[in-house]
Amino acid sequence: MKKIAVLGSTGSIGTQTLEVVRENGDIQVMGLAAGSNTDLLEKQIREFHPVKAAVWSKEKAKELRVRVADTDTEIISGMEGLIEVAVMEDTQILVTAIVGMIGIRPTIEAIKAGKDIALANKETLVTAGHLIMPLAEKTGVSILPVDSEHSAIFQSLQGNDRRTVKKILLTASGGPFRGKKQEDLLEIRVEDALKHPNWSMGAKITIDSSTMVNKGLEVIEAKWLFDVEVDDVQVVVQPQSIIHSMVEYEDGAVIAQLGTPDMKLPIQYALYYPERRYLPGERLDFWNIGKLDFEKPDMETFYGLKLAYEAGKRGGSLPTVFNAANELAVSMFLRREAKYLEISEIIEDCMMAHKNIENPTLEQILEIEAETYERINSRR
Ligand code: NAD
Ligand code: MG
Repeated sequence: MKKIAVLGSTGSIGTQTLEVVRENGDIQVMGLAAGSNTDLLEKQIREFHPVKAAVWSKEKAKELRVRVADTDTEIISGMEGLIEVAVMEDTQILVTAIVGMIGIRPTIEAIKAGKDIALANKETLVTAGHLIMPLAEKTGVSILPVDSEHSAIFQSLQGNDRRTVKKILLTASGGPFRGKKQEDLLEIRVEDALKHPNWSMGAKITIDSSTMVNKGLEVIEAKWLFDVEVDDVQVVVQPQSIIHSMVEYEDGAVIAQLGTPDMKLPIQYALYYPERRYLPGERLDFWNIGKLDFEKPDMETFYGLKLAYEAGKRGGSLPTVFNAANELAVSMFLRREAKYLEISEIIEDCMMAHKNIENPTLEQILEIEAETYERINSRR
């Protein structure tokens, strides 16, 4: 039986991972970790009987420990707890479904411990890809993409020589504000930005999709996962979200993966790779779809995407600044402390002020994250 642990088990990707586990019935869940939703975590503990479960806050962990005292699950907390779940002895795969660059340390520790990573947590790869990819290679660990676009690229690469890849065609839905201009976005409220046309996801990534910062993070994610230059990753707006991404080869052939928008497919593919399994759900009906549309992304309106290309191209610590500034700006927007258009403004301001460090260590990355937060907070 395959054994896994899940960081971020109560979120959108985490709960869908557990649905895949439930539907297949042949994966054992060894460890779970969540931020603060202890009600759902308790339910998960009772259903999946993990050996360990981590909750971020000490107080919540204490409370949960009492509530699940009748089970065999050990409750732990904080960064230590996350790392403990990440490196559990018998697990083969760690699913990183936690949101934000808080995932860096547990991911690095899991790789050191030889765990394959089913990676949803793109922020970690964006900021620490230069540490993670070489480490994974050294320890023989596979980084299996869960992000739907990267899973599509990974699927489109199967059976082909990587050296014949010409470019990656990363598709984007364009989000809820596709076709709008800056002046249309002045008064965007949280509720408007949380309405994604095709996918139901956590709040942070839904806002990122609306600003196209998510696509920017994905460009950098692709650079690390597939060892390509960011300029060889071309974003193609495909509003129906049916083509999940494509690879163009030297001979001009383009290979794509298509499907209905359902994250369980990439999650299941990562968990069972290279095996394909039955997955319940709707199938594509091309007679009904009729046509697919394609557009060029509007990088003037959604200039967060342009900034991501710049951060990805210059590399070093700049992607950390890009990501950290976005993480804080989005949380401020969600708390209604920043306006919608300020998200990209804040990212740009932090990037302009930053002195790039070429090969930042883990400590430097975390310092730059803190410095970026300080800069934003001190200017308000
Ligand atoms: P979400 O907000 O729904 O869930 C986040 C999870 O992380 C929750 O379980 C939360 O409890 C946990 N978490 C947050 N802070 C924590 C902490 N300090 N300690 C422990 N756990 C903590 O987010 P999501 O939409 O599931 O996204 C998760 C990751 O997957 C993100 O990096 C996102 O970019 C990526 N992703 C998501 C989707 C999607 O469809 N939702 C698609 C592609 C990639
Ligand atoms: Mg994606």
